[in-house]
Amino acid sequence: MVIAMNFNKNDTVIVTIEDMGADGEGIGKVEGFPLFIKDAIIGDTVEAKIVKNKKNYAYARLEKVLSPSPFRVQPVCRFHRQCGGCQLQAMSYERQLIFKQDKVKNNLLRIGGFSESEVDCVMEPIVGMEEPFRYRNKAQYPIGEDKGGNPVAGFYAGRTHTIIANTDCVLGREENKEILDTILAYMREFHVRPYDEKSGEGLIRHVLIRTGFDSGEIMVCLVLNYREKGNYLPHQEELLSRLSQIKNMTSVSVSINTEKTNVIMGKEIHTLWGKDSISDSIRVRDMTKADMAFIGEKLEFSISPLSFYQVNPRQTEKLYSLALQYAGLTGQETVWDLYCGIGTISLFLATRAKQVCGVEVIPQAIEDAKENARRNHITNAEFFVGKAEEVLSDFYNNPNGGDENAVMRHPDVIVVDPPRKGCDAACLATMLKMTPDRIVYVSCDSATLARDLRILCDGGYELRKVRAVDQFGGTVHAETVVLIQKKNS
Ligand code: SAH
Repeated sequence: MVIAMNFNKNDTVIVTIEDMGADGEGIGKVEGFPLFIKDAIIGDTVEAKIVKNKKNYAYARLEKVLSPSPFRVQPVCRFHRQCGGCQLQAMSYERQLIFKQDKVKNNLLRIGGFSESEVDCVMEPIVGMEEPFRYRNKAQYPIGEDKGGNPVAGFYAGRTHTIIANTDCVLGREENKEILDTILAYMREFHVRPYDEKSGEGLIRHVLIRTGFDSGEIMVCLVLNYREKGNYLPHQEELLSRLSQIKNMTSVSVSINTEKTNVIMGKEIHTLWGKDSISDSIRVRDMTKADMAFIGEKLEFSISPLSFYQVNPRQTEKLYSLALQYAGLTGQETVWDLYCGIGTISLFLATRAKQVCGVEVIPQAIEDAKENARRNHITNAEFFVGKAEEVLSDFYNNPNGGDENAVMRHPDVIVVDPPRKGCDAACLATMLKMTPDRIVYVSCDSATLARDLRILCDGGYELRKVRAVDQFGGTVHAETVVLIQKKNS
């Protein structure tokens, strides 16, 4: 039983951290009473100040590390506590990987109701990154003003809208700094005002930078508050001339967003210099080998300012290759790829399958998927716009669609890669009716993954393989790929 403690706000406590919460907070106990302490690491003994006292637990703020954990390392970014984007940056990368492996496993046990032996039998070691920094191909910097009225680019301090100036996030590319500094110098010189959320005045809201890791191509998109056709920015030619001189600059565009909203990008995009999009390619790797060597196929994708594309291309290659390996394709199979985005996984699958059908709710993403199929000369992938739960059940309930329809009503494999909330219950129900031999579930949230796996396993499937892939070093997030198979097959 937990004894209620009479802590007051600002009380100081000394506590040893024995566990970590799902959001990366350290958990320690004072006389059996749990305390949650952000930025404290398992193994630390810390001095902390109570900030919020609840009935059965309290939140405290890390004041001083009295005895550091053996897993504690010097954080690379001096803003890491204020920013909150990298919850685990002060923890060694090896220990971060253990944290993520445990998080996935615990969710399978607690939420999925799988037994420890069931999970231990099938869970493979997490796939870590070779270099856990500078891995992001996309950065979105808000633009604001400091107290002296100078334009700044940075990030929002955790859960606020106060911008802390920092043009060199260590998760992003080194070139981002030069690009942002160029834009800020231009703003100072020509008195171009940043957007002010409160008044709705000012011009530049955000700067989006995307880089093709394989191609090297760079795209910059400035998100603007006004719309003055043809001449979007004061002294536009000067800014374009400076940006175009940056090595590998390929595309400069503006996006118009005059709404009072937290949504960053506006719907309207105008290219001002260079191409409308950049390209990138990803290759299939052999995930059964320790060196995860490349095995042939290389697929090329076109990325425009609005298109969805995984942000860590090196790890994405491993994630998709794992999904492909788990799908167990020989060239004869029929496959559904639900929540397919711009068709990246679908096209990987199509290189080894007879027929792939992708489903995605955003029409523009499906346009991109079709274009990506053409670009890679893939002719055995078909794409449908709509909600996975609706498209799949319409398809299943319409047996009059000819031979191809009949085959796809009972595919060999279904792959899903849903957003954090997981699959819709109706979608899971139709998947079960389709009785595929194998289901490959790619997930960015192991809690909803575990919930959905329980439903599928109760519907006649069993866990065959589980492997986490770290896409976001420094953060608490983990991607997971799971293979389940029809029982007795
Ligand atoms: N597999 C893709 C995209 C995964 S992200 C990739 O790896 O790139 C999840 C995708 O699901 C997003 O593109 C989102 O637009 C889409 N989505 C969200 N809800 C959906 C639904 N109900 N039906 C179909 N797609 C959906």
